[in-house]
Amino acid sequence: MCLISELRQQFPILTSKNEDPFIYLDSGATSQKPRQVIEAIDSFYREQNANVHRGLHTLSAEATSAFELAREKIANFLNVQSKEIVWTAGATDSINIIANGIKAQLKQGDVICVSALEHHANIVPWQELCKQKGCILKVLPITKSGILDIKSSVELIFEQKPKIVAISHASNALGNIQPVEKIIEVAHEVEATTVVDGAQAFMHLRPDLRKLNCDFYVFSAHKALGPTGLGVLYGKYDLLNALNPLRFGGEMIKEVSFEQTSFQDAPSKFEAGTPNISGVIGFSAALDFLNSINHNDLLKYEKTLYHYLLTQLNGINGIIIYGDTENNIGTVSFRYKNEHHFDLATLLNGYGIAIRSGHHCTQPLMKSLGIDGTIRVSLAFYNNRDDIDAFIHALKESIDLLEI
Ligand code: PMP
Repeated sequence: MCLISELRQQFPILTSKNEDPFIYLDSGATSQKPRQVIEAIDSFYREQNANVHRGLHTLSAEATSAFELAREKIANFLNVQSKEIVWTAGATDSINIIANGIKAQLKQGDVICVSALEHHANIVPWQELCKQKGCILKVLPITKSGILDIKSSVELIFEQKPKIVAISHASNALGNIQPVEKIIEVAHEVEATTVVDGAQAFMHLRPDLRKLNCDFYVFSAHKALGPTGLGVLYGKYDLLNALNPLRFGGEMIKEVSFEQTSFQDAPSKFEAGTPNISGVIGFSAALDFLNSINHNDLLKYEKTLYHYLLTQLNGINGIIIYGDTENNIGTVSFRYKNEHHFDLATLLNGYGIAIRSGHHCTQPLMKSLGIDGTIRVSLAFYNNRDDIDAFIHALKESIDLLEI
């Protein structure tokens, strides 16, 4: 495997010779971008810029090939068919497309299950759908320590026989890897449609979706080395094609007259208008980058780094860590005694440490844990022990300041 220090060299923001220290520990919010992604976007606009799927001219044909090649690449990456991949604006957009698209298949009284650990993006679209259709939202519960209560969740699914089960592959607030395989299996036993929010898990776990057997899987490119404003919606083809489109206009139609319009099949019917072409080109380079690194080696490295961070944090009196530290993508969520997370995050920023504090768009989860927020440190493979040492040093000094 390439040495991590070599990989890190590929990320301009991490290696720029800045006078001020900069320790990036907020990859759960967005990942940093390697040079290859930045250059792919730059060279697209310099050398290849044209609209896709229209125009016979050479540049348009080249842009279309690159755009569709990226769809094939991500389909191969996920072990699915390229016609099962829809380009969206992000994970949030993907979930909204599913929730809107499946509306016509639901009726009053139908149950939709989400887990107690969900990001607002995997709660609110379902809640709105429930309001519109008179459906009922049920919550798969967690234990006191913030881990999905698998036994009660399975019982709830068997008892409620939901039409949809929507669950995150990994929690953004705590980093827990969720037992999605089991939830999908049980949900399918009661004939529920399964939606997996892979926003946090995709880059770390690189799921094989045929094996996972979920019906839908969504994520954002920006959390996986790619650009912002781009997402992926995977759906098993018949289920995907059965969704109604959310947006209407050019590209998604077969024939238009003033009397009536017919639509393309999936994926085109969900991609109205000019897509995020440069975003797709950039993400294609991100996939090449990921494909060039051995996944198992990276996983092992990330795990070692995560345990190093945990050990260092556990050595500080008064730190309370939340969530599942056994099965985790490399995210630590913690508080220091009763201090406000905002104060600590502000002090840490003074040391050039970029972490996130707050409720992490998981207000219901925070409420179940009896807190209003945490400090979240989220690692990626481009972090190293020096980053963690700098963070721990800054944390100890910040705590000393708080204690004065
Ligand atoms: N789900 C999870 C688990 C997330 O972490 C996020 C981003 N924080 C989202 C959904 C929404 O992603 P985006 O804002 O890129 O649409």
